[in-house]
Amino acid sequence: MLEQTLAIIKPDAVRKKFSGAILARYEKEGFRIRAIKMRALSKGEAEGFYAVHRERPFFASLVAFMVSGPVVLVVLEREDAILGHRQLMGATDPSKAVKETLRALYGESIEFNAVHGSDSAETARFEIPYFFSTVELVG
Ligand code: ATP
Ligand code: MG
Repeated sequence: MLEQTLAIIKPDAVRKKFSGAILARYEKEGFRIRAIKMRALSKGEAEGFYAVHRERPFFASLVAFMVSGPVVLVVLEREDAILGHRQLMGATDPSKAVKETLRALYGESIEFNAVHGSDSAETARFEIPYFFSTVELVG
């Protein structure tokens, strides 16, 4: 099914100048970039985005990390984009991620793991409009 998913190039990867390589990989893997912007997230925006994790012990450090520098927000479209992007990202912990996945290539730890991706259709329905208005989702 043709789907859209939200990808975030996290502050660690932006800082290390991996944004271009990651975007090129998306296109190489057949994703179409439907919308894109670079933003510094506010603390409130990061807390709201990761609200499902608010009871986790790592929540405060996750939010601090996500506001530590600009991120690149991307809406990707492809057949089976949600699962396909999760596979391309690799495991949350880069040391456990399959070779050549984005986290294996560009992540440095379970916390500083380079990219985010929606993990289900329901999550994508929350995450895409969280950052993009209808008029930004251009054809
Ligand atoms: P994301 O939601 O960012 O795509 P994910 O779905 O693979 O990652 P989640 O379990 O949703 O993993 O965790 C969200 C983020 O919280 C992780 O990407 C990572 O940055 C951070 N995180 C997860 N587990 C830990 C942990 N044990 N210690 C520190 N940070 C963690
Ligand atoms: Mg997640």
